[in-house]
Amino acid sequence: MNVPFLDLARSHGPLHAELVAAFERVLREGAFILGSDVPALERELAAVLGVRATVGVSSGTDALLAALMALDVGPGDEVIVPTLTFFATAGAVVRLGATPRFVDVDPETLLMDVPQTLALIGPRTRAIIPVHLFGQCVALPAVPVPVIEDVAQAFGATFEDGVQAGARGLMGCFSFFPSKPLGGFGDGGLISTDDLALAETLRQVRAHGAKPKFHHPRIGGNFRLDTLQAALLRVKVPHVPAWNAERRRVAALYRERLAPVVASGEVRWPRAVPGTHVHHQLVVLAQRRDALMSTLGAQGIGVAIYYPEPLHVQPCFAAVPGLTPLPIAEAACREVLALPCYPGLTEAEVDAVTSAILRFYGA
Ligand SMILES: *Cc1c(COP(=O)(O)O)cnc(C)c1O
Repeated sequence: MNVPFLDLARSHGPLHAELVAAFERVLREGAFILGSDVPALERELAAVLGVRATVGVSSGTDALLAALMALDVGPGDEVIVPTLTFFATAGAVVRLGATPRFVDVDPETLLMDVPQTLALIGPRTRAIIPVHLFGQCVALPAVPVPVIEDVAQAFGATFEDGVQAGARGLMGCFSFFPSKPLGGFGDGGLISTDDLALAETLRQVRAHGAKPKFHHPRIGGNFRLDTLQAALLRVKVPHVPAWNAERRRVAALYRERLAPVVASGEVRWPRAVPGTHVHHQLVVLAQRRDALMSTLGAQGIGVAIYYPEPLHVQPCFAAVPGLTPLPIAEAACREVLALPCYPGLTEAEVDAVTSAILRFYGA
């Protein structure tokens, strides 16, 4: 049985008519840049997240960049980031001339190692960017520097105390890349904050630093969220809790079916931390990962690797001062394998994936 790694049509299908209607409405209204759907989405998501303001931006990458620009991060500044994450988390730091300080991951959870993070805080630290990797929250204790949560993979996740991912730090940076828990129809992103003055600065940064128009007290960029994306996202927002719950059900099914190879130690689950996990990616640590991957691929089962290499070894960061080996992440990158996990995935499909894995290990 072919099992696609991701199939967005299964969530979009039932919403087709509503999405087309939203698209046509924006087309008729013609306010393509910062039209009324953008502030409407911002208000709706502020309410969902329990924050005072959100600012729609052009991507998750630009959310991180704008957040750092709003804090005037630049040369001489350090920003602490995990090494096991998507490129943009550290790319945004380097683009501003600041220095990323890479942190290894916790061997059990694969989340940013908290004691190491705290140990790196120094006089030059301007921010920490914890990444809620694969859809679960990494909780930092109170720290004396701004925290910018990278929530790209964790819309709808919560911390142990029920606080929404993105509502704890000074800012939360979301991505609406189509595969993310709240995915758009192209690129998009959002920044959440409880600080209304900061929200104003972020709005300024997203429109070339201008305030008022054509007067530029600071440098910004074109980081605006399209009206069209906002309108389409508004259709999807009410469905996200059900989709996240469905991914949790799928994850539980995998856990049950893979128990024999987990008992034998051939497959390991990253430990779940307290709070709600949204399973943006369902990642296992698998022995003989590459052979398993080709075997599954040959049977039409889509899998993926997040991530094949940590960031501290990327060629583009070779000149970053103070790099050290981060052995836990380096080892994890040789074992991580993401399995199909999305709304609409059937039990028969999960069975096809897990039977293939069990067969591979002779279980
Ligand atoms: C997807 C992602 C981003 C970047 O988001 P884009 O919308 O693709 O620019 C940043 N950080 C993490 C952890 C991500 O997964």
